[in-house]
Amino acid sequence: MANGKIAFKCLDCGMINVFPQWQPDGHNCMSCGGILTPIGSAMVSVDKKNAITIQVKAEGLDEIECQLRRIRTSIEEVEDKSKRIASMMR
Ligand SMILES: [Zn+2]
Repeated sequence: MANGKIAFKCLDCGMINVFPQWQPDGHNCMSCGGILTPIGSAMVSVDKKNAITIQVKAEGLDEIECQLRRIRTSIEEVEDKSKRIASMMR
C-alpha cells in the first residue's frame, strides 16, 4: 500500500499521530513532543467538503476507540468553525 499511513500513540499524552508509512521513524508527538509508539496502520481520507476521516486498524485496544472519539470530536469542532467562517464570508 503505497499511500498507507501508520498511527502512533503518544506515551505521554495519549494523542494519536498519523504519519506516512514511508516515514515511520524520527517523529515526536505533534501535541506535546512526547515519545510515540506505533499502534497500527491507518487510513486517512479527505472528502470534497474537507471533512477528514481517520481509520485506525488495531487489535484489541478499547483505548483506540476512545481516542477515535476524541479525534472525531475535534474534527467536528473544525467543521463547525469552517461553517462559521463560510457564513461570515457570504
Ligand atoms: Zn503527546
